[in-house]
Amino acid sequence: MKIGVLAVQGDVREHLRVLSRLGVEAVPVLKPSHLAGLAGIVLPGGESTAMWRLMRTTGLAEALKSQLDAGLPAFGTCAGMILLAKKITNWPETFFGLLDIAVERNATGRQVDSFEERLTVDGLGEVPAVFIRAPLVRRVGEGVEVLARWQGQPVLVRQGALLGASFHPELTGDDRIHAYFLEICTQTKPPQEAATRLNGEIAP
Ligand code: GLN
Repeated sequence: MKIGVLAVQGDVREHLRVLSRLGVEAVPVLKPSHLAGLAGIVLPGGESTAMWRLMRTTGLAEALKSQLDAGLPAFGTCAGMILLAKKITNWPETFFGLLDIAVERNATGRQVDSFEERLTVDGLGEVPAVFIRAPLVRRVGEGVEVLARWQGQPVLVRQGALLGASFHPELTGDDRIHAYFLEICTQTKPPQEAATRLNGEIAP
């Protein structure tokens, strides 16, 4: 199984390492052709606005958007979750706008306010989590499952094949949340197949 990591900016290497440890083919995604054959994609932490600007210059924003619309599983961590969110409470634009949550950018403060916590994650138990200028989820839509909370606020959410984390699971050495995402990828039909089926061209 081939999993991409959006690689225009942010902590790309850490995610590639975790995915390789979990035994999948992990590839950096820098341009539209890198999306071919992916079973899922990780959108890393970094700076959401910078990532979006860079993706727009190469056409990757549009190409990835159409894959996500077609059902490509995605795991957004921190800035990556902001990219997936339908609404950003303290920013005028939205990016992919698919995950039905409203997020507040930089809700946990500045870089120097970074911290590590242990969270209780549904189905996984206690998991360490690093928060760095983290977005917090201020509202979740009906179809969104909250898998973990910190101080009562949702910090790990899932809507179908989309997973979003306020924190950085790639920085702790605990790979279980990535493994959970890989399960989602295994269970989801590849987008091309889904699109073709929608067109009625092949029998299921
Ligand atoms: N504050 C960043 C943003 O808004 C996210 C920080 C992070 O990814 N660690 O994009």
